[in-house]
Amino acid sequence: MQAKSILVIGGGITGVSAAEWLRRDGWQVTLVDRLHPGDPDQASFGNAGLLARTSVVPVSVPSLLRKAPSMLFDPNSPLFLRWQYLPQLLPWLVPFLRNGNIDKVKQIAKSLAALTYDTTDQHRALSKGTPASDFIRMGEFVNLYRSKADFDADHLGNAIRAKHGLVPEHLDRRQLIDRDQHLGPSYNFGAVFKDYGWITSPSNYIKALFGYFQSQGGGFTHGEVVDICAGENPSLTLADGEILKADKILLCAGAWSGKLAKKLGLSVKLEAERGYHISMYNPNFTAPNPYMITDRKFAITPMDGMLRAAGVVEFAGLDAPPSTAPTALIKKHLKKVYPTLEFTHETVWMGRRPSTPDSLPVIGTTPNAPNILHAYGGQHVGLTIGPKIARIAADLAAGRSPNIDLEPYRVDRF
Ligand SMILES: Cc1cc2nc3c(=O)[nH]c(=O)nc-3n(C[C@H](O)[C@H](O)[C@H](O)COP(=O)(O)OP(=O)(O)OC[C@H]3O[C@@H](n4cnc5c(N)ncnc54)[C@H](O)[C@@H]3O)c2cc1C
Repeated sequence: MQAKSILVIGGGITGVSAAEWLRRDGWQVTLVDRLHPGDPDQASFGNAGLLARTSVVPVSVPSLLRKAPSMLFDPNSPLFLRWQYLPQLLPWLVPFLRNGNIDKVKQIAKSLAALTYDTTDQHRALSKGTPASDFIRMGEFVNLYRSKADFDADHLGNAIRAKHGLVPEHLDRRQLIDRDQHLGPSYNFGAVFKDYGWITSPSNYIKALFGYFQSQGGGFTHGEVVDICAGENPSLTLADGEILKADKILLCAGAWSGKLAKKLGLSVKLEAERGYHISMYNPNFTAPNPYMITDRKFAITPMDGMLRAAGVVEFAGLDAPPSTAPTALIKKHLKKVYPTLEFTHETVWMGRRPSTPDSLPVIGTTPNAPNILHAYGGQHVGLTIGPKIARIAADLAAGRSPNIDLEPYRVDRF
């Protein structure tokens, strides 16, 4: 009997993971992307590489509504907005801010934790026996604070993490310096989480997974999807007019997924929450572990041949060109963390996090079109949860019941 066929749209971490899980399940899989997996225009290319099992607190919390207006005018704040984009952002921004109430934040944290807690197991299971496994590192992760008082002030975050078993050890200034003599004097307290994973080259990781998928018979079609048709034999139309048909279609197009979901009559609220990185090559020293610089909202990750500082949030839409202010700000704050850091050269990058107003991904089938499935919306933890939501999508495609309540992630919840 001929294998059932499936088209996977999008070759970022989610789509490549899904393609490989589906291939292992016996599907005849074709991945479709206008780029090649590992390309700089994917969010999956330039993220901070963290397998963020401790990131269970959504961005929208009760204090955000109070702080956001002043943050937008503060030149040192990690939040950027292109004002002319505000009218387009409002239908997403209003529910996003509304979700920042305590009860909703607790519910969201529970649904995030259900996807993040086993991230390294998920990445290991996916990459086992492939060259991608070489890019997974294990160690400790340190949230850096200016003072213990700053750590204590995050009552809600600390309480939510503790509820999910994420209780850090504390490091005072002397202990921080014992571990990392290069830290500048501004940072005096650390919260350390053990048994933490990160990826030492996110783009090469994707390329390795994709290379393995192809070497095992997985298919790839290079092209831009401009339409999706539901039905018993669903189909995609590419920009050059070619039509691809299969038994099922899985949409994994990151921040662009909302536009494609519209073709199915779905109104998915998805925003490009833009972030930036600076990769510093051949540094004179490296970090002993990844850090989150909690007051400036960027991470520093030791990667292959470089140190990467990545983070901040900018709202400017999918298509606006990158801004210069976010990377200038990261550079300025990086000097406070590592005043003596030197390197031979740097690259800067902008990526689009696929973010929903409730900080939860979209996972499931299309109402009235069960042959079309969805897996996207990983926001700040899309690398962390990519392989897991891809595996859940593969379960759904096979008709298996995944061992998780999918109600919070439904495609028609918006
Ligand atoms: C600065 C920054 C730091 C981050 N750090 C972390 C981190 O440390 N840990 C973490 O877990 N997450 C992190 N993230 C988030 C993470 O990178 C994203 O959530 C994740 O990469 C999204 O993956 P994806 O596969 O859904 O989308 P993408 O990687 O963006 O891939 C989507 C793909 O779909 C394709 N596509 C879209 N539309 C079409 C179309 N019409 N036709 C054909 N192809 C199409 C695109 O070409 C693209 O290849 C960070 C993000 C940023 C910006």
